[in-house]
Amino acid sequence: MTALRRTVRLNSGPMRPLDLQTVCDQCNKSRAHGNHTKCSKLRQAQEAERRAREKV
Ligand SMILES: [Zn+2]
Repeated sequence: MTALRRTVRLNSGPMRPLDLQTVCDQCNKSRAHGNHTKCSKLRQAQEAERRAREKV
């Protein structure tokens, strides 16, 4: 076998690492339960607001 190419890149680039929290940071409930669509939208809105303020 030949050596496998390293195609997996972690934490490289401007992207944040995926948050794999099991608890929703918006409603503090388990992400595995309930509907967190609003939570994700809330989070996105907060992110957008933060970005707009920072204006990097
Ligand atoms: Zn939630």
